[in-house]
Amino acid sequence: MRTVTSKIRVGRAVRGPVPALALAALALAALACGAAGCGGAGERRRDGPLNVVATTGMVADAAARIGGDRVRVVGLMGPGVDPHLYKASEGDVRRLQEADLVLYNGLHLEAKMGEVLGRLGATRPARAVASAVDPADLQATPGYAGAHDPHIWFDVRLWRNAVTAVGEALAAADPPGAADYRRRLDDYRAELDSLDAWVRRRVATVPAPSRVLATAHDAFGYFGRAYGLEVRGLQGTSTATEAGTRDVQDLAAFLAERRVPAVFVESSVPPRAVEALQAAVRARGHDVRIGGSLYSDALGDPGGPAATYVGMVRANVTTIVEALGGAKEAP
Ligand SMILES: [Zn+2]
Repeated sequence: MRTVTSKIRVGRAVRGPVPALALAALALAALACGAAGCGGAGERRRDGPLNVVATTGMVADAAARIGGDRVRVVGLMGPGVDPHLYKASEGDVRRLQEADLVLYNGLHLEAKMGEVLGRLGATRPARAVASAVDPADLQATPGYAGAHDPHIWFDVRLWRNAVTAVGEALAAADPPGAADYRRRLDDYRAELDSLDAWVRRRVATVPAPSRVLATAHDAFGYFGRAYGLEVRGLQGTSTATEAGTRDVQDLAAFLAERRVPAVFVESSVPPRAVEALQAAVRARGHDVRIGGSLYSDALGDPGGPAATYVGMVRANVTTIVEALGGAKEAP
């Protein structure tokens, strides 16, 4: 374990899938608890901080921020970890079983943890933050009937709604702290309002023809919709599929024609596909550059500028705006 912020700890020590035995044990524990009625929603098992386990860094950060000193937050997915591909380790399963509250993104972002999270919901309070977003605000995932794009944190206003689920779940699990959670939730939402306005101001400095965001996978759909950029991902909404040669050539032709100055790699996706895209654009006579690495589905390193959600958004927007020819921010 290592500390991500003063309050978040990354619980993951070992990579690898959960053996079937561990999953079976979890299922049995769920059945036993269900029959005996143990650990019901909102029931604290001991004194001390509320033991919260969150999947992504963005959710863990919201829990730490809104929970304050009443909670101890373990985030399962550290910097650079791809949530689409992440499988729960045995240690994760143990931490999830011991949690007073489990928080996750939802909308199948944690695709390989769906079964584990579903079983947990029978015995432990568990809440998807996406449940607090108005379904009318969600975008469909092309090619997957009924599925929605899970990358809701890229529209700061959507995330501002999503974090209300964190405040509500904390208050339900720890009713004496409800007023504290409400106050910190309100503070955080006000900060996210300011952040949203800042993003709008920054993006407005990019010349209109260059407002194109070409990245490794389709994580930035909500970002593009909210802030007025055309978004082109080499892979689909999940990273589980590989980009085809046709996609690379189509996107390269578009970028060369529009003379878009930069494309971007992502911290949680290997850079090779974007490097191939860059080569394809250059082969068409336009010298596109790699504009930098964006934090797409994970926060940055502990102690770094992108260690929090707000820091991640600021780092991404600064990278995007400056690489696409927008104004350098005044010091
Ligand atoms: Zn993603």
